[in-house]
Amino acid sequence: MRASFYEGARTFRTGSQPMPVPGPDEALLRVRRVGICGTDLHIFQGHLDHRVPKGGVIGHETFAEVVQAPPGSGVRAGDRVVVEPVTFCGRCRACEMGATYLCYGLKVLGVDLPGGMREYWAVPVARLLKVPDTLGDDQAAMIEPLAVAVHDVRRAQTQPGDTALVLGGGPIGALIAMVARHRGARVVVAEVNPYRVGLLEDLGLETVGPDVDLTRFVQAWTEGNGVDVAYEVTGNPAAARLMTDVVRVWGTISVVAIHAEPVPVNLYQMFARELTMHGSRLYSREDWEEAIRLAASQAVTVAPLVSRKIPLEDLQQGMEHVLAGGAVMKVLVDLTA
Ligand SMILES: [Zn+2]
Ligand SMILES: [Zn+2]
Repeated sequence: MRASFYEGARTFRTGSQPMPVPGPDEALLRVRRVGICGTDLHIFQGHLDHRVPKGGVIGHETFAEVVQAPPGSGVRAGDRVVVEPVTFCGRCRACEMGATYLCYGLKVLGVDLPGGMREYWAVPVARLLKVPDTLGDDQAAMIEPLAVAVHDVRRAQTQPGDTALVLGGGPIGALIAMVARHRGARVVVAEVNPYRVGLLEDLGLETVGPDVDLTRFVQAWTEGNGVDVAYEVTGNPAAARLMTDVVRVWGTISVVAIHAEPVPVNLYQMFARELTMHGSRLYSREDWEEAIRLAASQAVTVAPLVSRKIPLEDLQQGMEHVLAGGAVMKVLVDLTA
């Protein structure tokens, strides 16, 4: 069977691998779609070589069809499933607190452990969630990033009537905006890429571009108060520098983006307005279940975010394409192609 192997920075090679043999608690999956996300771009650029082995198989946004599963496991051949790509110990302090997705020994499938960029994959049944037939393959491949967004909005406790500013309108920012809007918030997305701005506006989202002074915009929008919640989804130091200036007294800042390097933050505003800042990473099981409900009910429309599909053989070019920016939102690898 075909698989794509990470051979070091900027290089993926498609080759063959023996068919996996599922263990007693595992199902054998035929992979249909795998999304490329920001984490994968970090891997591609060699930033995560301390986690991803040479020759490793990446891919953590997987939608697949069950080929074979243990009897009585709750899944069976033909089921359409998504993979919750985390493994945890269940015993450490984080796991005991219920934060299994932040386990001190966390290993992510597709990063630390082999992932879905291959035709067949054996995965523990406990990590599978069934997807209704009403969701198309491309939509199902968007459940993982949607679960991230559901988690982010839940942690920020976004309420009906809240004002929410999303800094960064890539796939995760767009999904956060749609989930927050579904929760009844008034949302504005700050984005610099004109293609993405157009796409966000097609989704009925209000945007603010690079030609506008964001602090002044927020002042005018919120009658000088500041927004209830700001989501930092850019990973850009300029956004981190700005984020404490746009939030109201007792407001919330949610850091969703990966800031790989320490960056300056205006802590005076943290103090002066008694702001709350928290990180938001990955998801819990309930976020996945809610993501499936939101996508299946069309409360959040994920399909328009898919801007391109590529065969496995084009993974390297696909990564270059996403990194180059321009007219791109979400790229999916189509394993059936
Ligand atoms: Zn991802
Ligand atoms: Zn643990």
